[in-house]
Order: sequence, then structure tokens, then C-alpha cells
Amino acid sequence: MERNIIEIFSSIQGEGKYAGCRQVFVRFEGCNLNCRYCDTENQPGTHGSCQVEAGAGSRRFEAWDNPLSSDQVSRIIERMLLEVPHQAVSFTGGEPLLHAAFIHDLAQRIRKQTKVFLETNGSLPEALERILEDVDIISMDIKMPGITGKDLWEQHRSFMDIGKEKELYVKMVISDETQEDEFHHAVKLMAGVVPQAMCILQPVTPCGGCKAAPPQKVLQYQAYALRYLSDVRVIPQTHKMIGQM
Ligand code: SF4
Repeated sequence: MERNIIEIFSSIQGEGKYAGCRQVFVRFEGCNLNCRYCDTENQPGTHGSCQVEAGAGSRRFEAWDNPLSSDQVSRIIERMLLEVPHQAVSFTGGEPLLHAAFIHDLAQRIRKQTKVFLETNGSLPEALERILEDVDIISMDIKMPGITGKDLWEQHRSFMDIGKEKELYVKMVISDETQEDEFHHAVKLMAGVVPQAMCILQPVTPCGGCKAAPPQKVLQYQAYALRYLSDVRVIPQTHKMIGQM
């Protein structure tokens, strides 16, 4: 089994509940959404090679021809895990669940040595169901229609319902453009399925014309969410503040 991978490297998880933890990142090519604030070049077929970090955290990269096999990727991961202790291996993108079969294959090879962390847009519940047993931690987004141009409420509800068997937390990116009615809908949707799960409000890192949310708006949104959810935290993309990938 082979897939196009954009990059494999060791860094600090910059977002959400595990911000600050050392992880190996495997970034898959391709996404089923097109968010206004997306900062990843992820069109399918645009990466002839994968940037593989030569030593975990060295920031020296070698270009490996795409596609890579699950055997190649697992050996790169295992090498990094031996070089530096990591909290988990993060499958990210793009949207990693477009590659569920490949992740299943990889997980069979690395699961004894590490936790598997899935960073997903939360829109592909059937794919999650297929690999649920391969995953330890799920970081899922709720994407609001004003950002994606799509109504994904039912997909997100189903995704949370399937994922709640695992350690799952939910991230909502907040920008100046975030519409209040959509945010309220997202909070109530989450409260109806996983009210005890951690909710991360992530102020957007301005990109693609999206502007930062005013500080007062962030506080108002957190106050609203706390009426329905037990654990609501405001955490920005910390890795970008300190020059990490
Ligand atoms: S889901 Fe993530 S990778 Fe896909 S378009 Fe949105 S921000 Fe980009």
C-alpha cells in the first residue's frame, strides 16, 4: 500500500489539549474540504516527493520519492521514536481519514511503540469507524458552514458519536468572520453528544483573508460554551509563536 505524504518530522504539538507534547507528524496529501483559513498546500498529486526529517528535530530534510509505502513510513517513524521519546505519532493533513486503510496498515506496525493521535476535520465518520480500534486520541474539528461553504452538522454529530469511545476532544476555530448562530449551533451539537469532552476554542491565525477574532468576542464565545460544556479552553496555535513547524 502506498500514499503521497507531504512531510514526516518531529516537533511540538502546537494545538489543543496536548500543546507542548513532542510528537512525530505524518502529513498526508489531500483534503475533502477547502477552509478559508487553510494553511496547508494539500492538492492531490502536487507533491512528487516527501520531506523526511533526517534526525528527529534536526530540521535537516531529505526528499523521498512519493508515493511512500506503509513499510517505509513505519521505518521512518520507528527511527524517530528511537532517537527521541515522543508522546504520540500524529496523523495529520490535509485530511488523514482519506487514507484510512493506509493508517490501519501503519498502526499495525507501530502501535506497540507509540500512541496513535488523529488530527481530523471530523467530517468522515464512516472512515473513522473503520479504523477506530487503531487510534488512541482523536482531535476533531467542528467546521462551520461559513468557513467551508458546506453544511457538515450531521457528519460531525455522527463522528462524535463514533469517536466518543476513544479519548476525543473538539476544536473550533474562531475568527472575526465566525457567525454567532453557527457557533451556538456547534456548541449545542457537541453538548448533545459529548458534553464532558474538552472543547478548544482556537483563535484563528490570520490566513487566506480570515481576520483574528476581537478579544472580547473570544471571551463571549467561551462564556456561551461554558453554559453547555464542562471544559472549554482558549488555546491559539502555539507552535507558530515559537517558530516550530
Ligand atoms: S480541513 Fe484542514 S487541511 Fe482541509 S482545508 Fe480545512 S484547514 Fe485545510
